[in-house]
Amino acid sequence: MINFYIMTLFPEMILSGLNSSIIGRAREKGLIGIDAINIRDYACNKHNKVDDYTYGGGAGMLMQAEPVYKTYESIASKLGFKVDKESGLHYNKGNSKRLRCIYLTPQGELFDQKKAEEFSKEEDLLLLCGHYEGIDERVLEEIVTDNISVGDYVLTGGELPAMILVDAIARLLPGVLGNDTSSEYESFYDGLLEYPQYSRPEVWHDKAVPPILLSGHHENVDKWRKEKSIERTKERRPDLWERYVRRLNER
Ligand code: SAM
Repeated sequence: MINFYIMTLFPEMILSGLNSSIIGRAREKGLIGIDAINIRDYACNKHNKVDDYTYGGGAGMLMQAEPVYKTYESIASKLGFKVDKESGLHYNKGNSKRLRCIYLTPQGELFDQKKAEEFSKEEDLLLLCGHYEGIDERVLEEIVTDNISVGDYVLTGGELPAMILVDAIARLLPGVLGNDTSSEYESFYDGLLEYPQYSRPEVWHDKAVPPILLSGHHENVDKWRKEKSIERTKERRPDLWERYVRRLNER
């Protein structure tokens, strides 16, 4: 079970995106918790304004530090994390663990299956979505433990990236896919892309399903799938193939 706390200026976007299909059902069954917290609720003025001009000039507005910090603090205190006076950072009771807070940013480490597996071991994950030009650096220094990017391009906000993380992490949790083994044979699980798959009918647009898949010979089917995985990875993702071979050689 993981509880996701998503700090955002657009909670309705997050909730509408994560309320249906497999993730929606996982939420209903209590396998994951998703709380979208509106940073605007922690604005420090009567107009509920949370952004301002950037010092030094330049186009666009920046999300201010204080509303973001207050949003974070309200979640942290609910979870029993307190500020350590020396470092100014939030730790749990025994001071052994920092609260994990991910800032979605194009300047972060690229998100991949390995990161999804790492995050899936946490109990509570805070996700911080920026908007406009981003967020005042000072609050990021105090609360963020991980900077994560979903790709080398710039989006208008961190909401879509946050949803991507929730989806990729949640589907690794027991019970979410309805069948505990179904994420085991997919692309990236063992460093290769998945083999091609077919369903009924046996012939479609004059294309027949590879006969070996109809043979009922499991060993041969596994062998064929592995070969296809390798072929596909070499062709589509030579970078992954290189890494796969390097890892095999190291072993
Ligand atoms: N000025 C920032 C920069 O150049 O790094 C970009 C700000 S972007 C317009 C607004 C927000 O969208 C960011 O604060 C971040 O939360 C989110 N964002 C944009 N692209 C992203 C990406 N590739 N991965 C993760 N988050 C992204």
